[in-house]
Amino acid sequence: MTENGLIVGVLALQGDVREHRRALAGCGLRSTLVRRPEELAEVDALILPGGESTTMSRLMVAADLMEPLRARLAKGMPAYGSCAGMILLCREVLDGTPDQRQLAALDAVVRRNAFGRQVDSFEADLDFGGLPGGPIRAVFIRAPWVEQAGAGVEVLARVPEVPAAGSAAGRIVAIRQGCVLATAFHPELTGDRRVHQLFCEMVRKPSEAPHEDMRVRACR
Ligand code: GLN
Repeated sequence: MTENGLIVGVLALQGDVREHRRALAGCGLRSTLVRRPEELAEVDALILPGGESTTMSRLMVAADLMEPLRARLAKGMPAYGSCAGMILLCREVLDGTPDQRQLAALDAVVRRNAFGRQVDSFEADLDFGGLPGGPIRAVFIRAPWVEQAGAGVEVLARVPEVPAAGSAAGRIVAIRQGCVLATAFHPELTGDRRVHQLFCEMVRKPSEAPHEDMRVRACR
């Protein structure tokens, strides 16, 4: 069953679009593909999928989506980015390409492909702030981590401090700033819908907190 009215766009230039749509449907929200500015104008919220951030950035520039999307985010449109989507939402990327563009909706510095070659892809159980039901199984695929988070950014999850995590121990892998959510991992690839449910709650009940530039955003 879907709710009337609200519709969540999934940026569909590249990446794991179908998986996010399936997760949204599982949470009871309608979704549609966003490839053009006219389509962006029709949605209440947006998911930026996992994929390849440099490619997505180029395709967004080519589709004239960068500026309209920045403008919607600045007005408080709820957004969620997984992996490459997280990279795009942050204000600065380390180890990006020179032409890579940022949406700057999160006051955070993100490092691309941060986990390095040996642990290009791995899974871990993470404590995720505010999610009911215990740790979440997180799938990391050539994932970034957040190197620096501004004062207004809430840290929701970190790599566990276990010896196997090596230099990644304690790194930030999920953040929220107002109505913008980002994870370095891919909840759309597991059957666990709790992260999408959290985002859907953000879409259904936009925060009414007063805001101060990038620090706390009111949604929509
Ligand atoms: N390494 C990719 C990038 O730079 C992100 C990987 C992913 O989304 N799974 O965009």
